[in-house]
Amino acid sequence: MSEKQYNNGIRPVVVVGAGIVGVAIAEQLQHRGHKVTLIDREPPGRGCSYGNAGHFATDVVLPLANMKTLLSVPRLLMDPLGPLSIQWGYFHKILPWLMRFAMAAAPGNVARSCQHLRALNGRSIESYDRLLGRTGLTDLMTKRGALTVYERPDSEQRNQTTVELLRSFGVEIEALSAAQIREMEPALGSGVAGGLFFPRTAHTSNPFRLVTALADVFVQNGGEILREEVVGLRRTADSTEIRLSGGASIAAEQIVIATGAWSKTLAEQLGYKVPLDTERGYHLMLPEAGCNLSRPLVSFERSFVMTPMEEGLRLAGTVELGGLEAAPNYARADILFEHAQSLLPGIHNKDAQRWMGFRPSIPDSLPVLGTAPDNPRVSFAFGHQHLGLTQAAITAELIADQMEGKAPEIDLSPFSIKRFR
Ligand SMILES: Cc1cc2nc3c(=O)[nH]c(=O)nc-3n(C[C@H](O)[C@H](O)[C@H](O)COP(=O)(O)OP(=O)(O)OC[C@H]3O[C@@H](n4cnc5c(N)ncnc54)[C@H](O)[C@@H]3O)c2cc1C
Repeated sequence: MSEKQYNNGIRPVVVVGAGIVGVAIAEQLQHRGHKVTLIDREPPGRGCSYGNAGHFATDVVLPLANMKTLLSVPRLLMDPLGPLSIQWGYFHKILPWLMRFAMAAAPGNVARSCQHLRALNGRSIESYDRLLGRTGLTDLMTKRGALTVYERPDSEQRNQTTVELLRSFGVEIEALSAAQIREMEPALGSGVAGGLFFPRTAHTSNPFRLVTALADVFVQNGGEILREEVVGLRRTADSTEIRLSGGASIAAEQIVIATGAWSKTLAEQLGYKVPLDTERGYHLMLPEAGCNLSRPLVSFERSFVMTPMEEGLRLAGTVELGGLEAAPNYARADILFEHAQSLLPGIHNKDAQRWMGFRPSIPDSLPVLGTAPDNPRVSFAFGHQHLGLTQAAITAELIADQMEGKAPEIDLSPFSIKRFR
């Protein structure tokens, strides 16, 4: 589309970032009749949205920042290949983030975050129903719930307080015996002691295809995608000026920053400080696992998830605090296979593929959503940490409502970037 087709050369709506969050927002705004431009330095879906566990994890309403996590940190850090690790060279950089994380873990803050996460997660599947229904992509969400399995006999007891808390926030949970779980997932070995079934969750068989298929629909319906890096943003009287890596500048009447773990610099260029960092996570894709599951299965003790996908069985998880620059430590992906072997006897890792992604994480475990406090032409939609896939469709509806001046279905003030001032 040429510049002349835009009023004064100003594009009506620009969404920066073509991960699941940005693409869902672009599609939603287009669906409501807006002319939308999507910008990404990579083809759609190549960021964190590429390799996640594909779990619409509506049950996860307990923020990661809670006392249980905090108290387990010293033990977890003893094992460099355990569920949590820090690259010590990065420690001084992430220290302020960790301090905020510790403050967010205070019980009153946790209760508030649970409520806000529930408000998003409780609407997420219905919102995907709408999105996938109108785009003809319903095959990309399978509603068979998800399981958490225990291997140790005392795990059920250890998890009881969390289960009660989740139930108090409306999460449906069924406690299952080992036999019931093995009936649902016959590939599981004899090491399973029991577990939980979460009926109101779902999974996608291909998170990457979900993003690319949505981006294709967006383009087919007249959407514009620019393959450029945004290197500068500046507020002007009637727009936001967007400087692109190719040297050109464009302007947007409305701009949405949906650049995941890379959003901090762009927010700062517009005058907003945000304590965004990354929790790096890994996956190991097993194209020939030799056994399969029918739904996501989370290991309570080992803190990882296994999800059946079109291209094999995906093992995913772990948190590594190490910033955006350090090289991946793929031993953290390989260790997932050892964990899986304990649960699925006979599993194979032939031609396994490893991947690392950057979760965009805010210390209070809530995303940053909504318009900028004193600039309604700017909206933020980033920081979805472990739940970006789960929350993308509902995020898109809420952002679009607010941009159009309608009251969003839930109060967006707890998610505002204002909370960091
Ligand atoms: C191992 C692992 C497992 C996970 N499992 C799940 C799960 O089961 N369920 C769930 O809900 N979530 C899960 N997540 C989290 C989820 O993947 C993320 O929250 C989500 O992908 C974030 O999406 P996003 O669109 O915000 O970011 P991204 O997908 O990272 O997209 C951001 C985009 O912005 C672009 N960009 C950045 N800066 C610029 C710039 N300056 N100019 C132009 N483009 C730019 C990037 O190229 C990228 O394409 C998991 C994450 C990991 C790592």
